[in-house]
Amino acid sequence: MALVSAKEMLEQARKGKYAVGAFNTNNLEWTKAILKGAQESNSPVMIQTSMGAAKYMGGYQVCYDLVKDLIDSMGITVPVALHLDHGEYEDALECIKVGYTSVMFDGSHLPFEENLEKAKEVVSFAHANGVSVECEVGSIGGEEDGIIGAGELADPKECKLMSDTGIDFLAAGIGNIHGSYPENWTGLSFDTLKEIADITEGKPLVLHGGSGIPLDQVQKAISLGVSKINVNTECQEVFAAATRKYIEEGKDLEGKGFDPRKLLAPGTEAVTNLVKERIEWFGSNGKA
Ligand SMILES: [Zn+2]
Repeated sequence: MALVSAKEMLEQARKGKYAVGAFNTNNLEWTKAILKGAQESNSPVMIQTSMGAAKYMGGYQVCYDLVKDLIDSMGITVPVALHLDHGEYEDALECIKVGYTSVMFDGSHLPFEENLEKAKEVVSFAHANGVSVECEVGSIGGEEDGIIGAGELADPKECKLMSDTGIDFLAAGIGNIHGSYPENWTGLSFDTLKEIADITEGKPLVLHGGSGIPLDQVQKAISLGVSKINVNTECQEVFAAATRKYIEEGKDLEGKGFDPRKLLAPGTEAVTNLVKERIEWFGSNGKA
């Protein structure tokens, strides 16, 4: 199946009260792991690259070719959207030209008016190419900003203005944080989420920092309008843990255990298992 825009899959999720997982990829193994997990769960899926991961992999064209060709060679039949995560303006435009089917333009670090203006430009270019657009209002905290107890809360009025630019889905801070959650984290703000969902009138909402939010909070957020959940850190953690176990058990020293195809297999399998587990959490299994 060809890559698809994320617009329809997220609108269906919003209506059906489930969410689509957006998993970050870093290389061949992760891309295969995510596609395999989605296919075995019969679930729509978003594969996303950060700007840094795309650079690491050799550029946006390489990412696009890799995902597209694996969909063919693996016989993937579930809908897959290739999405740029937290893109700068220029990167969003480049991804659209290369063939990404969805982009996030993150202008949350800009003055709000400029964020809004640039969002409109990205929307117009993206939609002319059948590509869906995510934008962010406020900002979502994270490790790079130092550990904080509560993530930021977006201003619902700004959410409404951003939603009205014609973007397809909206990321807004509701107390979520990138990376691991600190022990004193106060949880998601469902009041803020409800306000944003009401004022944006059914626009699919995106939950960033989906790693480590407890199941009950994830499911409540979905019931209130979250339709896309980003998962990155958790995949990294299970990949590293499984690889560590393989090496600590000395398996790389047995026979041809040092072969990268063997060395990377346990981590890859762990990513597939996590993807399948999260798809079940989000309720998108069987929704392809
Ligand atoms: Zn994010």
